[in-house]
Amino acid sequence: MTRRFCRRGPFVAFGILLSVVCWPHFADAQSAPSAKLSVHWEELTAADFRQGIQRSQGTCLLPFGILEKHGPHLPLGTDLLDVRYAALHAAEQEYVLVFPEYYFGQIAEAKHEPGTMSYTRAIQLALLQETTDEMARNGCKKVLIVNGHGGNNSLLPYFAQTQLEKPHDYVVYVFNELEPSGKGGPPMKSSMDMHGGERETSNMLISHPDLVHMDRASSESGADQARQKLPENVYTGIWWYTRFPNHYAGDAVAANKELGQYQMNWWVDAIKKAIQEVKADDVSPKLQKEFYEKSTHPLDTQQ
Ligand SMILES: [Zn+2]
Repeated sequence: MTRRFCRRGPFVAFGILLSVVCWPHFADAQSAPSAKLSVHWEELTAADFRQGIQRSQGTCLLPFGILEKHGPHLPLGTDLLDVRYAALHAAEQEYVLVFPEYYFGQIAEAKHEPGTMSYTRAIQLALLQETTDEMARNGCKKVLIVNGHGGNNSLLPYFAQTQLEKPHDYVVYVFNELEPSGKGGPPMKSSMDMHGGERETSNMLISHPDLVHMDRASSESGADQARQKLPENVYTGIWWYTRFPNHYAGDAVAANKELGQYQMNWWVDAIKKAIQEVKADDVSPKLQKEFYEKSTHPLDTQQ
């Protein structure tokens, strides 16, 4: 609004006044490219993008969310919204480019709930590969995937591991911690908390409080129904549904901003440290290159 007013001001009599009012804005505009470079990939011009890649030292973040039910009270995009909140705040502290919204992960177990976007496994892997390939082609020689969704816990290490199939001129890193482990912080009130419960709801009270419907938090049960009788070391894909058919695991009633702020501070700081470690890592690119080269003639490898 201010700029439009400045451009269109028709009266000469106001000229001096307007130049005084508008001057700071012109000054901002002139110094903006070097002083304040957005961390959002989609907000940069092509020229500023080049500068962003340099400033990030070729390290880029790919925050990875999902669209799935989160209990009766949280939005479908909870994981996407939270991981982007944490990743963007971390990127502001330790400059890296942040890829736009990405939510094409593993969520087959929520296909019975409204609003779930569940892509087939071939598409998940192919799209992620093309995305990181394209990021690398644009200068992201280190791609740090920041996971925001527990259903990706097997997908992402598998994706990173299979980068060794054939040569790539970039390294994929995965940061897969969503919450602080161990003691410290405000005490939890609920004894079981796995999905849409006290922890996740508390995070949303910090990142997007206007999207949290606390009055609906107890309208469905998030209790463990424990319907499957198998030992813990035997895995089935249906395990989640047998325990939590409402796609709600825990009790969000106890959620509070104090816990959310503690967790979010931890998450932002942990991502920031991961970015710093990845930027400083010169071993992985070098040895990955060596590995690719050796893998073309394994019989020559010295034991
Ligand atoms: Zn979630």
